[in-house]
Amino acid sequence: MKPAPFVHHAPRTVEEAVEVLGQVGHDGKVLAGGQSLIPILNMRLASPGHLVDINGVAGLDEVAVTADAVRVGALVRHARLERDDPAYAATPLLRRVLRHVAHPVIRNRGTTVGSIAHADPAGEMPAVLALTEGVVEVAGPRGRREIPCHDFFLGALETSLAPDELAVAVRFPLLGAHTGTAFAERARRHGDYALAGVAAAVTVDDGVVSSARLSFVSVTDVPGALDVTEAVRGQEPDEVDWSACDDLVRGHLAPEDDIHATAEYRAMLAARLAHLTLAEAAADAVALQAGSGPRHREHEAVGVPREGGPAA
Ligand code: FAD
Repeated sequence: MKPAPFVHHAPRTVEEAVEVLGQVGHDGKVLAGGQSLIPILNMRLASPGHLVDINGVAGLDEVAVTADAVRVGALVRHARLERDDPAYAATPLLRRVLRHVAHPVIRNRGTTVGSIAHADPAGEMPAVLALTEGVVEVAGPRGRREIPCHDFFLGALETSLAPDELAVAVRFPLLGAHTGTAFAERARRHGDYALAGVAAAVTVDDGVVSSARLSFVSVTDVPGALDVTEAVRGQEPDEVDWSACDDLVRGHLAPEDDIHATAEYRAMLAARLAHLTLAEAAADAVALQAGSGPRHREHEAVGVPREGGPAA
């Protein structure tokens, strides 16, 4: 199918983009990489009368590492951020996660900010923004504002962005030298949307766990973070029984059945991935404090049972 007819707008500045968005209101949609929006238009799941194409807008394609965050402009493609060495050194989790976002050809075009504005609970980058307690920078007819992620994600594909507002950047706060991170997901094929995915951040102070947080992919109805510190606080990183977090994790999840997996399987997978990523994030924190720097290895697919079968 082809999209319903629309008027294509090609603003050159943020101010022009916001002006058009203000004029067309609910009948307009921002077009960034188009990797989610164009399929939606082609299937006629939406038929906006106006597309505000921001690909020619100046000043939105920068990645900047500041003293307290990695700032990603609205035209930074997933692939660009994935390859950005300063961003990786500041927040290794970004590259670790971006490798799992779709397939390379989609990452070459899709934007990280677009993925966050799309607010799909099956998307990896909303989970990273939630885990890091990030911020979305917004421009609109009423001026600029910043939206903390817990106020940004309202539900599946639903955010607090007004129809006449443009997300100009997101900021992923730096987590500090005592906090390690990890990410793991399982999909039917690498690059497909995950059956379940988990990002973890564990802080180790004075040799014991002082904070542990998780966020999830494909098993909640809204992107958000879960603090599991109370289950593991004060324990030595290599002696923690991470299954103590299970009740908190299970209470947080809202998986659904679909043709790819049952809700029960997704919940079991998420719980197992939570153990794996928490343990790896704790080890990462210890390695960081020992001066080993960011580690490059990805998860091995060990110990995660396949649906209807024995452990892989
Ligand atoms: P667009 O498609 O242009 O826009 C998406 C939505 O966000 C639209 O509603 C648009 O109006 C809005 N929007 C975009 N930018 C802004 C902005 N700056 N301000 C306000 N609103 C904005 N994603 C994953 O996370 N994981 C996957 O495994 C995955 N697999 C995929 C597989 C396939 C086959 C395809 C086609 C896509 C997949 N994606 C996946 C989606 C991909 O990551 C998209 O790039 C991303 O979701 C949207 O980014 P975009 O720049 O393409 O946004």
